[in-house]
Amino acid sequence: MRGMMMDRPLLISQIIEFAAVNFPDQEIVSRTTEGPIHRYTYPELAKRTRQLAKALETLGVKPEDRIGTIAWNTYRHLEIYYASSGMGAICHTMNPRLPADQLIYIVNHAKDRFIFVDLTFLPLLEKLHEHFPDVEGFVVMTDEANMPKTDLPRVHCYETLLKAQDGDYTWPEFDEHTASSMCYTSGTTGNPKGVLYSHRSNVLHALYVLSISGVPINEDSSILPVVPMFHVNAWGVPYFGLIAGAKLVFPGPKLDGPSLADLIEEEQVTDAWGVPTVWLGLLGHMRQQGKTFSSLKRTLIGGSAAPRAMITEFRDKYGVEAIQGWGMTEMSPLGTVSIPRPSMRGDWDNELEIRGKQGRLMFGVEMKIVDADGNTLPHDGESQGELLVRGNAVIDGYYENPEATAKAFSDDGWFRTGDVSTIDPDGYMEIVDRVKDVIKSGGEWISSIDLENEAVAHPEVAEAAVIGVKHAKWQERPLLIVVREQGSSVGKEDMLKFLEERVAKWWLPDDVVFVEELPHGATGKLQKAKLREQFKDYTLPTE
Ligand code: ADP
Repeated sequence: MRGMMMDRPLLISQIIEFAAVNFPDQEIVSRTTEGPIHRYTYPELAKRTRQLAKALETLGVKPEDRIGTIAWNTYRHLEIYYASSGMGAICHTMNPRLPADQLIYIVNHAKDRFIFVDLTFLPLLEKLHEHFPDVEGFVVMTDEANMPKTDLPRVHCYETLLKAQDGDYTWPEFDEHTASSMCYTSGTTGNPKGVLYSHRSNVLHALYVLSISGVPINEDSSILPVVPMFHVNAWGVPYFGLIAGAKLVFPGPKLDGPSLADLIEEEQVTDAWGVPTVWLGLLGHMRQQGKTFSSLKRTLIGGSAAPRAMITEFRDKYGVEAIQGWGMTEMSPLGTVSIPRPSMRGDWDNELEIRGKQGRLMFGVEMKIVDADGNTLPHDGESQGELLVRGNAVIDGYYENPEATAKAFSDDGWFRTGDVSTIDPDGYMEIVDRVKDVIKSGGEWISSIDLENEAVAHPEVAEAAVIGVKHAKWQERPLLIVVREQGSSVGKEDMLKFLEERVAKWWLPDDVVFVEELPHGATGKLQKAKLREQFKDYTLPTE
């Protein structure tokens, strides 16, 4: 028997209109590309978003057209999110740090019709625009007074477009499965792969995040998404933040420690979301200045493993709860969050064990681990296998990419994450490694992530990476690559001695090398593939 309930589409435009009516004095604050802080309320955001939707129509934008953005986290970027998706077009956010050939590939693969660009990235487009034959126009995200001279053809000024329109616009209604936005994953090898979100998946993901026990988000929250809006919709903050009526604080182009610390204080930020690298910068600054936070309650850390030392420092020095989350672009992105259950709290060592894991499922996502033949493995905290997921906010294919799609799913339709993990009897998942980064030593696996985690706990280590290097007897053995803290002269023997007390003996790296810096990809992640290439002929002293 079918339930007798209405079937109303879940649409992104509902979020902005709901927020404007229900939280009329809530603020959106942005540090702008031009410099000053900009602030306005939800109703002003909604009005300008409607103006922009009308402006897009005037430009000839139709449903399904792709609207590219190359921009920081600011109110204008938020307006583009809501205007393009709301009118039925597709908001395609792009990472400006991608290598040029990858940017060219994704603009053309997505067939962007217009590209909105922040002042900072204008020079980038001036260099690349000739490779975008199908792009009809570029919109510079500024006002007339700040509009620079540019060689870019077919250029519009954002505020001029907006000024020509009133806010009298009714959002169209359509099927909730309609595509709303897209984001390409920065593949470490090969071309990036397109993830195409739907209205339904984005609204559901927002509601799922708001249902997480232990991450309260509401009208009293002041949320700082440091995670870029070009990286998986800033983890959904622009959607769930508005549903919850939270104050949103956008950092614009300034993501360094001092700038973030100032913004957190000035805007009384309670919740900050970002990748570990960003928090390293912030914590370094706080340490140096001997400062504390007066408002910050929580940081949500994801994208790569949150070092236990970082979680502890946030707690011990600043009374801030650092919560680790795990997810993927393909998952909108959130999958798990690591918050100890009430019965697990009290003893910090135990708690840290849990908080160091990637966490428990968020409602709306299912996961399992499987062996190489696809057999399901037990949740015993020991068995390691590839992590598979499914849910309404998980992709069911890559955009116009049948080859990548064919490889991405199990026979029974689960998405293959490419992560190797364990799941303990309490349901906490722990990433052991990426399938391609795990070190295979004599038939056993060594987790490069675990070793890195231990190595960065050394007070004189700024950053560390572990890769597998060819070994005649063991097939592969770990090599530890360290960036020292400034002024430190920590050596190989010190490092090995430090690790000896922390990891199994056969995990100890066969060698330690010190470098000035490690290679990072466009989303700030360590590029292990590059390191493996760099050290491919390295001879370990144990050979
Ligand atoms: P990219 O575009 O760089 O692939 P994603 O955010 O999609 O960016 O990357 C997803 C991957 O990042 C996951 O499959 C996992 O390997 C890693 N990751 C994300 N969060 C964590 C975490 N908390 N701990 C460890 N690894 C993580």
